[in-house]
Amino acid sequence: MQCFEIRKRLNAWVDNELPLHDAEEVACHLKNCLSCRLAAKDIQEIVDSMDALPAIHAPVTLSRKTLRSFRVNFEKPGMAEWWQGLSLAMRGAVFGVVLAGLLCGAMLGTSIYSLGPDSQANPYRAVYASKGILP
Ligand SMILES: [Zn+2]
Repeated sequence: MQCFEIRKRLNAWVDNELPLHDAEEVACHLKNCLSCRLAAKDIQEIVDSMDALPAIHAPVTLSRKTLRSFRVNFEKPGMAEWWQGLSLAMRGAVFGVVLAGLLCGAMLGTSIYSLGPDSQANPYRAVYASKGILP
């Protein structure tokens, strides 16, 4: 590997996040390249000094603020917000589809009801009869 390829992997190498083969290549390169070895040493010193810092405890209100911010910015809109976000043409299309579905359901329900339990054309007759149920 060239030096620029090693430099791109140094942070991951210091954090032991490289695959074994890549980590071995970086280690081999560092044995022979003073410049990259110094860069790795600098990164290791930064990591060590960051690890030496005391832990920062989150304020109690952070989670509440974070949740509120999440809800405001990332939650899916409710039905009312979705409806308000639609253009007038899309509202008309949605209304038409819903109306067509209701009419189809009403027509199918009416036609099944009008067949009656003794009608030979009733497709549900056999099902009802097998269960001992008559509509
Ligand atoms: Zn190098």
